[in-house]
Amino acid sequence: MMSVRRKTILVADAISPVGVSKLEEFCEVDCDYNITATDIVERIADYNGLIVRSRTKVTSELIEIADQLEVVGRCGVGVDNIDIDACIQKGVVVVNSPRAPSIAVAELTIGLMLSLARSLPYCDREVKAGKWPKSEIKGFELYGKTLGLIAMGRIGTEVARLANAFNMRVIGSDPYVSKERFAEFNVHAVDYDELLDEADYISIHAPLTKETVGMIDMVTISNMKDGVRLISASRGGVINENDLLEGLESGKIAGAALDVLEKEPPSPSKLLEHPNIIVTPHIGAQTIEAQDRAGIDIANEVIAALDGQKLRWRIV
Ligand code: NAD
Repeated sequence: MMSVRRKTILVADAISPVGVSKLEEFCEVDCDYNITATDIVERIADYNGLIVRSRTKVTSELIEIADQLEVVGRCGVGVDNIDIDACIQKGVVVVNSPRAPSIAVAELTIGLMLSLARSLPYCDREVKAGKWPKSEIKGFELYGKTLGLIAMGRIGTEVARLANAFNMRVIGSDPYVSKERFAEFNVHAVDYDELLDEADYISIHAPLTKETVGMIDMVTISNMKDGVRLISASRGGVINENDLLEGLESGKIAGAALDVLEKEPPSPSKLLEHPNIIVTPHIGAQTIEAQDRAGIDIANEVIAALDGQKLRWRIV
């Protein structure tokens, strides 16, 4: 690790202080969480490593003048703010910290599912408004219900583990995952149509891609069980929000809980006003533990890159 001692890192978006401390054990670290696009262009030539979240745009112009830059670390998952082609051309390694939020997002998903099943936000609002809606509330147990997981990646499998503890029957659809992986998490592998047909709760954990954009739309909603409940803590855009509203208005969908929206923050809309929707402001990864884990993971990965070690989460 001696070789990284004099290396310099610019942390341009806030990461957990434990991540910064880890970096400081090995490198010279400058944290400037309000750095502007102009300032970063002026300063980037001094650094061997750059750490960002989603705020800082790592453009081809920036990469071009970053003559000492060896690694860009994205604290978190999505790398759409980083010009990957420019990094490849310049030989700059790009790493991220994808596993950090999985537990937090999975636990939020279960929380949203329970909130739908027991009308928790409604009960809270009513009691605080001086009402006592006990007799009007008819909740549902998760026990014995079928949960359909769309995607069985890091988060989907973590949700499966938790849902099994509630004695749910868990089915899942993911064209890119082996049958063995489904079995490992006690999930019954089904195709997408079967999942829509059988699930009482559907939770989406697929990324937003050309293939998944709008995968919940009028057609797929019509193939779901009457009274289905939908949860999404994946990415806005996977659900067609106009079609979701129609599904809620017709009663086909009994409830939906969304941590992610097509536009964040959203404008006022009929969807947000619907009584059977619960919305949270993209808080999936917002736990102390997930943020600390992300900070430490990206620090370790950037240090490893600067030290020429094997990388766990190398994008390029
Ligand atoms: P991952 O890469 O581990 O898993 C994604 C899974 O989606 C893979 O198994 C892949 O095979 C599957 N998939 C791709 N296309 C599919 C399709 N058409 N049908 C079914 N499955 C498909 O990712 P992850 O860490 O589990 O994260 C899942 C998503 O959660 C991320 O892409 C991100 O959009 C979202 N996320 C949200 C938050 C939040 O704050 N709410 C935080 C982190 C991640």
